[in-house]
Amino acid sequence: MKDKNWVISFPKIINSNGCWIPSDRAPKPGGGYCSIMVDRKSYQLHRLVISIIHNLDYNNPLWEARHGIYCVPSCFNRVRNEWRRKRNG
Ligand SMILES: [Zn+2]
Repeated sequence: MKDKNWVISFPKIINSNGCWIPSDRAPKPGGGYCSIMVDRKSYQLHRLVISIIHNLDYNNPLWEARHGIYCVPSCFNRVRNEWRRKRNG
């Protein structure tokens, strides 16, 4: 399974804003989240990173990944991005 070392060692470019942008795939036109394949399943990279760092279940719909206010969508900087519990109902 993926762990924190995997997050840290993931190939990236760090832009002037401190965003971690995956360097081994072309950015999508117009931005957008970065999807990656792990064990033949597709994940949103920023959400996967948060689930690993904060020990959350990736598939749990009760929390959402929150991007840093100045972040680009493909950013997976584990410090910039946060998570938040969704409100019930
Ligand atoms: Zn960022």
